[in-house]
Amino acid sequence: MSNDNNKLLILDDDALIARTISVIGESAGFHTRTTTAADEFFELVDTWTPSHIALDLVMPDMDGVEVLVELAQRRCRARILITSGVGSRVLDAARRSAVEHGLTIGGVLAKPFAPGDLRQLLADQKSEIVDIEPDPHPDTDRRRHEISPEDLEAGLERGELELVYQPKVNCADSALAGFEALVRWRCPERGVVPPGLFIPVAESSGLIGRMTREIIKQAIDWFATDLRSCPRIGANAWHASLLGKLTLSINLSARSLDDEGFIDFVHQNCCDALIDPDNLVFELTETSAMEDPVGSLDLLTRLRMKGFQLSIDDFGTGYSSMLQLVRLPFSEIKVDKSFVMSASRSEESRAVIRSIVELGHSLGLRATAEGVEDLDTMEYLKEIGCDRAQGFLVSRPLSGEQALQWAQQHLTSWR
Ligand code: C2E
Ligand code: CA
Ligand code: CA
Repeated sequence: MSNDNNKLLILDDDALIARTISVIGESAGFHTRTTTAADEFFELVDTWTPSHIALDLVMPDMDGVEVLVELAQRRCRARILITSGVGSRVLDAARRSAVEHGLTIGGVLAKPFAPGDLRQLLADQKSEIVDIEPDPHPDTDRRRHEISPEDLEAGLERGELELVYQPKVNCADSALAGFEALVRWRCPERGVVPPGLFIPVAESSGLIGRMTREIIKQAIDWFATDLRSCPRIGANAWHASLLGKLTLSINLSARSLDDEGFIDFVHQNCCDALIDPDNLVFELTETSAMEDPVGSLDLLTRLRMKGFQLSIDDFGTGYSSMLQLVRLPFSEIKVDKSFVMSASRSEESRAVIRSIVELGHSLGLRATAEGVEDLDTMEYLKEIGCDRAQGFLVSRPLSGEQALQWAQQHLTSWR
């Protein structure tokens, strides 16, 4: 008997193909239902709550992309397998749009497919954890996400902001190259709140300046006191010399650059902690750096003149002009993770990564790829000469203490 995580609903206007998928699905241990009509399909989505959906993207009487949008509006939690005879670029675009709508795509299969490929894809799904429970309290969920500036300010005052650290390694030899600090809000009522939910509130309410100073203080303190003075690591002279070369990356919102005295604040903190500004990298997103090109140019130039490094984050997702990139004094370019995460299955993504790395190198910038999740992608990055990599393959973001342990283990096993 199939359990709730093994329900595959198939929508394909070709009844024979639907039947074939169904037979393969049943043999892979799925309980299946097939339909060729959109009405019946959505009724089954609601009443039968499939854990998986196989969807043909191109059907004569229906638009598969519209079906995806409708599924997203219904907050469908099933894993979706897209099948279609359209070219790989179109399939890729459909996958991206579905993910941007919040759907979970289990895989994409170009038609005609060999039964073995579908069997493999279905087998892969079963090893993934599936959470098909529809959100029982969508409103509570929304309220949870509604963060008022007052709540956030109170949290800031109570010292509830914490940083986690994600390692970066050199692509060529996998040596530890540094860490990126990422902020979390440990809120007593909401649990751990990710930055995507509260940074925008901080930006629009004017809290971002204070918050950024708090983040910088904590990050420098961890880097200088915990990491660089860690007796477990520094006892080995060779490790100690490596510690001196590590970089600490901190994300800056463009709004924090409006903060009078920001540069002096950072500089003073570095001096107090005996950190060379060259060990600090400030990451700014492409779009935010371009918002006020003239103001940014002044401030970023001053930061660079003090010796800090600057990185252009999420490169490839904004609307930068080549001119701005050349004008602004960046020292690093970060390839956006949307390209990196899809590199192993998308030739287009690989081409974008390669051009960004080449563009960066031609301007004398270090290239870092974020969102590296698999070995094939790591190999590819090495092959094209990308400098650094960061992502779940190397490590997830870690608490301060875990990051120390990770560094210690990595340094010991690396040499
Ligand atoms: P970001 O700067 O692009 O940071 C990378 C995000 O990707 C992080 O999410 C990280 O956890 C995630 N990530 C890293 N490796 C992988 C991977 O292999 N796969 C996947 N799927 N994701 C990966 P996080 O921590 O939720 O941060 C989200 C964004 O919030 C950051 O994007 C950054 O723009 C912003 N942010 C984080 N910390 C701060 C901060 O201290 N200040 C400011 N102003 N913004 C921050
Ligand atoms: Ca970043
Ligand atoms: Ca990024």
